[in-house]
Amino acid sequence: MMEMKGVSSGYSIIQVLHEINLSLAAGDRVALIGPNGAGKTTLLETIAGFVPLRSGSITMDGFEIGRLKPELRAERGIALVTEKRNLFSDMTTGENLRLGRCAAPRETRWDRQNVEATTERVLTLFPKLRQLYHRTVGVMSGGEQQMVAIGRALMSEPKLLMLDEPSQGLAPQIVEAVYGAINSIAEEMTVLLVEQDLQIVSSTTRNVHLIVNGTIRKLDAAELDDEALLTREIFGLA
Ligand code: ATP
Repeated sequence: MMEMKGVSSGYSIIQVLHEINLSLAAGDRVALIGPNGAGKTTLLETIAGFVPLRSGSITMDGFEIGRLKPELRAERGIALVTEKRNLFSDMTTGENLRLGRCAAPRETRWDRQNVEATTERVLTLFPKLRQLYHRTVGVMSGGEQQMVAIGRALMSEPKLLMLDEPSQGLAPQIVEAVYGAINSIAEEMTVLLVEQDLQIVSSTTRNVHLIVNGTIRKLDAAELDDEALLTREIFGLA
């Protein structure tokens, strides 16, 4: 469904990603782990088109997208929820969600029934957003804003949903709500997430890739079960 082959990318004179190969099938739920500065965010942003490709290719359903502008990649089904969330803070939850439709498939983007059904789906996944529908996002808590950000991404009906550290800085019950939603949508779309919390990773997926110094490798079952090894690889601790 999404395939990266020999992908290198970075910023000005710094090359961050080196020859990344990553293949995601429809419905896959994949986690990326790795130390700070390893290139996890850069990988997501390279797929989304915010960091330019230096070499290699990225295909979605066999179509080369590696050199398309971010908005055209979004139209092709790629959604990224960044760490910063990038919400419009003086707009309401409902308005932010509606903006997500700008990246939905063209044929049904503003089709009323379709917009209503997708909105309803998002509000069912995050019941809290129903109460907050007319609330200005800027006054909401971090957890509520995270739900709006994921909800807005879902409004575009993505084929590939990418989430950059969705649990960061959130209270445990909010993390549960966020991951409850991620787990219940995972069959409908491919999910690629960056997550530092190993407990969350292990309860979410066994398809885990480790990024170190801009290179990637898939972890095998023995490595996944070896908490000490993972902790050492990620945090440099024994
Ligand atoms: P973290 O876990 O801390 O979020 P990460 O694995 O997501 O780290 P990236 O954010 O992808 O790592 O950063 C990879 C490298 O690229 C780091 O050395 C970082 O300093 C550098 N970098 C990131 N963004 C930029 C930028 N806009 N300009 C220059 N260098 C950048």
